[in-house]
Amino acid sequence: MKFGTKAIHAGVEPDPSTGAIMTPIFQTSTYVQPSPGDHKGFEYSRTKNPTRHALQQSIAALENGKHGLCFSSGLAAIDAVLKLLSPGNEVIAANDLYGGTYRLFTKVYAKFGLKFHFIDMKDVSNIEKYVTDNTKLLWLETPTNPMMNIIDLAGASKIAKKHDLMLAVDNTFATPYLQLPIDLGADIVMHSVTKYLGGHSDVVMGALVANDDQLAADLAFIQNSSGATPGPQDCFLVLRGIKTLHLRVQRHCENGRVIANFLKDHPKVEKVYWPGFESHPNHNIAKAQMKDFGGMISFTLKGNSKEEAFKVMESFKLFSIAESLGGVESLVNHSATMTHASIPYEERQKIGILDSLIRLSVGIEDIDDLLEDIKSALA
Ligand SMILES: *Cc1c(COP(=O)(O)O)cnc(C)c1O
Repeated sequence: MKFGTKAIHAGVEPDPSTGAIMTPIFQTSTYVQPSPGDHKGFEYSRTKNPTRHALQQSIAALENGKHGLCFSSGLAAIDAVLKLLSPGNEVIAANDLYGGTYRLFTKVYAKFGLKFHFIDMKDVSNIEKYVTDNTKLLWLETPTNPMMNIIDLAGASKIAKKHDLMLAVDNTFATPYLQLPIDLGADIVMHSVTKYLGGHSDVVMGALVANDDQLAADLAFIQNSSGATPGPQDCFLVLRGIKTLHLRVQRHCENGRVIANFLKDHPKVEKVYWPGFESHPNHNIAKAQMKDFGGMISFTLKGNSKEEAFKVMESFKLFSIAESLGGVESLVNHSATMTHASIPYEERQKIGILDSLIRLSVGIEDIDDLLEDIKSALA
């Protein structure tokens, strides 16, 4: 089945009791058993709920994986992956991660005896230098947030397999429409469903997809034991959002391309970060592993002044200043003070999160209006 068909049909069956074409919101905590232990596969909604089950099947199908698991947020999904590890285990992570992921690793899990190496993975051969007998997990995002670096997934997977490491990929920015990490050798795909999968800025949710039966069973055990599961109403909203994922992402990409090119030639703009440019250092890898380049764009201003960046951001009329991304509406973010404030200043400078860095989540509004908004804000 092709992607657009899966987005609409995968995981979703007409409700057997009524024929309802849309999966109902099973707003129930428990399920009646005619005799103890005799049930229809549903006992308690933390463990399994029909609305969540349909969504998990849908996301797994979109990622070309066998098993899907939904969590109450993207960070709860990442948290479940880390709970596979034991004290003394080491994790090699990309040094340009979502700020909350960095915070979870360094502020929560480091004190439980996990050791993290945050390294530059733009050249994946760098990874091997950090592998020890204790290394268990490779964690990366591509494109990265907010620098839009590209990491070679097939290359990272080769290294993971050689050293028997688990490879987990945060596929939030790309979405399965643009990039399929499991096909390229990843063991776990993670999503902040909050972003493009939900797509309408009305739900906070996370997901994991895995192919291996044992790995998926271990993650499902953690999902049920720790209990960070989403409610059925939120699952319904995401099932609805996913039906237009392919159309939305196509338009995000189209609008993103026009805006990236406009910014590149603007006299006030110093540098534009977008993997679609031939001059992007890993453009060829992006071209090989992604269908298109997405709607996320970062740029810096000449002079690198934070005040100037704030002035530009406050001048937008359509782009709203907000955290998050991936919704139908356009958003603008100042990474250093908003999403990435939890990363220390020196670390931010190293990565390139300068004071004038502005990140755009280009929405699916009419491109003429978006361009006009950017033109007048920069003026
Ligand atoms: C938002 C985000 C997360 C965290 O997800 P939440 O749903 O906010 O918990 C993780 N990774 C990336 C790339 C994100 O953008």
